[in-house]
Amino acid sequence: MKYTINEESLDPKDWSEMRRMAHLMVDDMMDFLQNIYDQPVWKPIPENVKQSYESSIPKEGQPLHEVYEEFKQNILPYYKGNIHPSFWAWVQGTGSPTAGMADMLASMMNSNVTIGEHAAMYIDAQVVNWCKEIMGFSREASGLLTSGGSMANFTALTVARNTLANRSVRYKGLKNLEKQLVIYCSKETHSCVIKGIEVLGIGSENIRRIEVDDDYMINLTVLENQIQLDIQAGLQPFCIVANVGTVNTGAIDDLDAIRGICNQYDLWMHVDGAFGALAKLVPRYKNQLKSIEQADSVVFDLHKWMYMPYEIGCVLFQSGEAHRATYAIEPDYLLKHERGLAAGPDSLNNFGLELSRGFKALKVWMSFKESGIHKFERLIDQNLQQIDYLKSLVIHHPQLELCAPVVLNVLCFRFYMDGMDNEQLNTINKEIVMTLQEQGIASPSSTLLKGNYCIRVAHVNHRSRKEHFDVLVEEVVRIGREMVLVS
Ligand SMILES: *Cc1c(COP(=O)(O)O)cnc(C)c1O
Repeated sequence: MKYTINEESLDPKDWSEMRRMAHLMVDDMMDFLQNIYDQPVWKPIPENVKQSYESSIPKEGQPLHEVYEEFKQNILPYYKGNIHPSFWAWVQGTGSPTAGMADMLASMMNSNVTIGEHAAMYIDAQVVNWCKEIMGFSREASGLLTSGGSMANFTALTVARNTLANRSVRYKGLKNLEKQLVIYCSKETHSCVIKGIEVLGIGSENIRRIEVDDDYMINLTVLENQIQLDIQAGLQPFCIVANVGTVNTGAIDDLDAIRGICNQYDLWMHVDGAFGALAKLVPRYKNQLKSIEQADSVVFDLHKWMYMPYEIGCVLFQSGEAHRATYAIEPDYLLKHERGLAAGPDSLNNFGLELSRGFKALKVWMSFKESGIHKFERLIDQNLQQIDYLKSLVIHHPQLELCAPVVLNVLCFRFYMDGMDNEQLNTINKEIVMTLQEQGIASPSSTLLKGNYCIRVAHVNHRSRKEHFDVLVEEVVRIGREMVLVS
């Protein structure tokens, strides 16, 4: 007897219509990126559009072209702005047309890059090897592409803990350790390190957040004194986190000194170089950042100062053995075979927390092949030169004040007027930032330095030109003066 069931799939019934839509989407996105220079950097989301985000799950479908229309109406125009040349808020990469297309190709292939004998596994490994070259790590070093710097830092801190505490911590847990673990970093260290230490069960009270000097670098005397105090108190120091590019001001800790202290007290040296470590590629930072090569682990984001679209970060380890010993596990359902699909490279599940992983390596592979690493070096250098330019505009303007030393690609400044106290200046500068964004002019972000509200420019944008910084400065002063008049 023959019976029919109504078998469905998510493939289109009409491939030619799908193809037409796909072309349309690509064309629209190329227009979008090509014209982004003339668009506002940001616009507020209207209430009625926000309401559309509240509708409940669609029970039945509608034609793709209608859904796509809604995307163009309600989603695309309300972008965050980090694709725009005048965006320098937080530390957010710009992305590129090539890398975006690579993400589309990766998504269409839909490779799960964890296990198996397939090309994406090898490209992922190749990109990790390229990352080693960038950081001056040896070929024998180990690494992992992660969703970002937070996950990469967490991965590194776990390996540091397991290696320095006692490998059995992995199986017996922290309660089995004789001594309480303590870790060191400066007060300027990124919050993801704090979170990571909390998740690792070490607890944030066991992070010694060391004072910084006027240049926001970790104070080495305080650091070393604290280590000695902790040892005397019967605690076990295990790691120092060195910053290459603090998030507030871009400060770079003294890597050589920290390496020395790590050697002396037998500590793991971890470098959080989420954006700053990439400055290693340009001549003027080569020497200063050379010692990244001596770190036990280093983290950097390719979605920040390598201009890749979200998400992609990287962690590297000198010791592949230590890296693998923290994560390797072989459950019955992930057995490796001699031949066939389940052969192939070591499962990436043995190197990190995540099992399923996307083919995020492809965007790096394509971009590096198309542009060559020298182009990225030039772009990073260009950003640094543009920050120099902005600095000269700020220091030569009587109504602007530089708030911190500029050592990398982060510049903090504020509108200033004689006779105003810090509280008034804080109010005005906050208004300036919000107004710049609301008027679609530019998107810096802000931070507090010594209690003062500062306008913060963190520059990882390959689309910015000098003129965009001219506009920023002009408009900060314009809005500041207007605020003074109304206050
Ligand atoms: C951005 C950043 C992080 C976190 O990285 P994500 O990719 O956002 O998870 C960590 N440290 C520093 C210094 C950063 O700038």
